[in-house]
Amino acid sequence: MPGLRLTPPGASRRIERVRNPLSPPPARLPRPNRRARGRLHGLALLRLSAPSALAPLSATAVTALRVAAGALGTNRLLAQCKLSGALPRVSERLGDLVRTNSEAIHAVRTAADSAVRPWNDVAISASIHPTPDTHIELVTFGQRADAVSMLLMPLTGNATGVRAVVALLGALLTRPIRMLRALWPVGWSSRAFFVLAMQTADNAIRLRARRGWFGGVTLWSEADDARRMPNRIPIAREITEWLAKRTGGTAQAGALEVLFGIPTTAHLLGGAVIGRDTSTGVIDAQQRVFGYENLLVCDGAAVPANPGVNPALTITAMAERAMTFIPAAHQSEQ
Ligand SMILES: Cc1cc2nc3c(=O)[nH]c(=O)nc-3n(C[C@H](O)[C@H](O)[C@H](O)COP(=O)(O)OP(=O)(O)OC[C@H]3O[C@@H](n4cnc5c(N)ncnc54)[C@H](O)[C@@H]3O)c2cc1C
Repeated sequence: MPGLRLTPPGASRRIERVRNPLSPPPARLPRPNRRARGRLHGLALLRLSAPSALAPLSATAVTALRVAAGALGTNRLLAQCKLSGALPRVSERLGDLVRTNSEAIHAVRTAADSAVRPWNDVAISASIHPTPDTHIELVTFGQRADAVSMLLMPLTGNATGVRAVVALLGALLTRPIRMLRALWPVGWSSRAFFVLAMQTADNAIRLRARRGWFGGVTLWSEADDARRMPNRIPIAREITEWLAKRTGGTAQAGALEVLFGIPTTAHLLGGAVIGRDTSTGVIDAQQRVFGYENLLVCDGAAVPANPGVNPALTITAMAERAMTFIPAAHQSEQ
């Protein structure tokens, strides 16, 4: 993507691929291949990368570019372009309002003799709203996902750090068979289900970028003090423990949550969100990057809030809506 010069609106609506003086000019466009993962609007599939002597750059031109590298990928790409000077006008809000769907991942490993057969169920089988802003889904995995259990530990109360380790050791001493069975991965996915909690709450983290060696960037997360993310969702724990009791099973939670109070999410969103202007977001309501109106963000990075549900359809609907603002080829030529 660097190697791409995006001219500001007004000057020209073209995006030109700029040749890196350190690399020889290729004779023709790179052909789409299996390794290529990005999508260059109506032109070709390309791996988007940072400007560096290693990046093969061609001298072609496109009229618009749609970035859809996922929340992490898009934050990384735009940060890379901003820090390298390829896209200096990208808003300073890049990396702000990164949403985790205010999520907590818990699980119940049912007892060996339980009549409950989670593997026989559809993947997402039930859904409740225990509070107005909390949505809980039961998720099952079939019989061949035992490795998922490696992400989990038995839930032994609200302590974190050393106290969590002490609580775990205490549980191992007092209920050794139950605890060892909960930690044993083989057969886990036949017996267990996730209790996936998601909230519409207005909390967030930030992604910060630092230039790395060889032209890349390193992203790291930090707390957003104005919108602090909870390190646990008490109602979700309560429901998980209730379900464990009802099924004679063991309550589990993400290992990072149990040990360090860091919740896990499968739904990272935001960071290049829709805003009124560059002081509130990175893209406008048509998902065009402020300052580069022919550059669009069409993935989870654009989502400005915690939807409190699995977000794939929201992301798709937003991307489809953004596409409706792009004139058809014959219209734009007129
Ligand atoms: C285990 C799991 C289960 C989930 N289940 C559900 C579910 O049941 N329902 C639901 O709604 N959501 C679910 N989600 C969430 C959903 O998958 C994501 O929210 C959604 O796919 C995000 O869409 P996206 O377009 O933002 O990014 P992605 O779907 O991640 O697409 C981004 C693509 O860009 C590529 N890419 C990254 N960097 C570059 C680069 N530099 N150049 C070129 N290409 C690049 C990536 O390889 C990837 O293919 C789940 C997520 C996980 C992890």
